[in-house]
Amino acid sequence: MTSPVVLLGGGHAHVEVVRRLGLLGLGQEITLVSPSRHAPYSGMLPGYIAGEYKFDDFHIDLAALCTRFGVTFIQDVACGIDPERRAVSPASGVVLRYGVLSINIGATPLIPEGISAGISVKPIATFADRLTRLDVLADQGRLSRLAVVGQGVAGVEVAFALKQRFGARDVSVVLVGRAAQPVPERSCRARQLLERELRTAGIAHCAAFDAMAFHNGELIARDGRRMEVDEVVWTTSSGAPRFLRRTGLRLDDNGFIRVDETLRSLSHPDVFAAGDVSSLPDPRPKAGVFAVRQGPVLAENIHRTLLQKSLKAYRPQSNWLVLISLADGRAIADKWAFAVLGRWVARWKHRIDRRFMRRYR
Ligand SMILES: Cc1cc2nc3c(=O)[nH]c(=O)nc-3n(C[C@H](O)[C@H](O)[C@H](O)COP(=O)(O)OP(=O)(O)OC[C@H]3O[C@@H](n4cnc5c(N)ncnc54)[C@H](O)[C@@H]3O)c2cc1C
Repeated sequence: MTSPVVLLGGGHAHVEVVRRLGLLGLGQEITLVSPSRHAPYSGMLPGYIAGEYKFDDFHIDLAALCTRFGVTFIQDVACGIDPERRAVSPASGVVLRYGVLSINIGATPLIPEGISAGISVKPIATFADRLTRLDVLADQGRLSRLAVVGQGVAGVEVAFALKQRFGARDVSVVLVGRAAQPVPERSCRARQLLERELRTAGIAHCAAFDAMAFHNGELIARDGRRMEVDEVVWTTSSGAPRFLRRTGLRLDDNGFIRVDETLRSLSHPDVFAAGDVSSLPDPRPKAGVFAVRQGPVLAENIHRTLLQKSLKAYRPQSNWLVLISLADGRAIADKWAFAVLGRWVARWKHRIDRRFMRRYR
């Protein structure tokens, strides 16, 4: 099968590419490949865990979106790319040839080697199933202490959300991380607010604990310390999908696809990459906010490539707003060196998230 434009992955940038190129009447030229029909919007995952949202509230129906814009949708997972032959190999074995390829397949969980148990928050697309496992354990009374490893924004939000979900079932939650404070990458004020709110919510905080493994009910730190817990949720950093190493695409040291400021591969001009899987010339943290902002530029540059026009540059923000849900109707907004907490912040976050989802309904 051949398609002028192949979009690999239904990530935050590609849903906008489908919408924009679809509105231009180019849907027939495009094929989107995704392993699942429903693409989750990570910003609303904590709200789902806490019981505020339902599955459909934070999932984009990719098949319906594609149908709306005349885009071909293939439910499959890519396990190989041959950029010399301009071919993608999905698991089904049917080779897909492209004129232009765009890759927005996110990152994969990077959990310590030798880990024997615990659940990972990524891939988010299948987290709902893993959450059900925790529900079963809690219902059977086999979950009294739950650790969330990783104290970045995702880890903190997941800890508050799990406390909200399981608090009434007497499950205690402990947030574990290798840094001295939560969200070490955010402002000092945000860290202070979070430390206070963790205490108020009754979430234990175990800092400077570099968790390496989870065996037989014990979470083990690099320095040998041990902590007894019934289950672990890993929200630690993400790595690049492994199959990329076999593609011949130019990658950075961590295996992410190196792109120039137009989001085009440094090695193959007919390949683009966006979101977590891409490695920008001016790097930014792996966060959905960048994938979302790349969507319009990516759409335009794919279109310009088809028209053989020069490409536009994507300029990532140097300061970006982070909204951290406390899962109790309040949230923290953090930007520059300022952080504020309130119910109005949660309502604001809710409006932003809902607006994003509405665009793809
Ligand atoms: C709990 C949590 C909360 C978060 N909250 C925020 C937040 O509030 N704000 C923020 O900016 N960031 C947040 N993040 C980070 C955010 O999740 C990621 O940075 C973001 O999802 C990256 O978007 P993406 O478009 O690159 O990829 P993704 O959203 O991961 O999408 C990738 C898509 O590609 C598909 N795919 C994967 N492999 C293949 C393959 N081989 N072939 C075809 N398709 C494939 C996947 O199924 C998926 O649909 C949060 C993360 C977590 C874990």
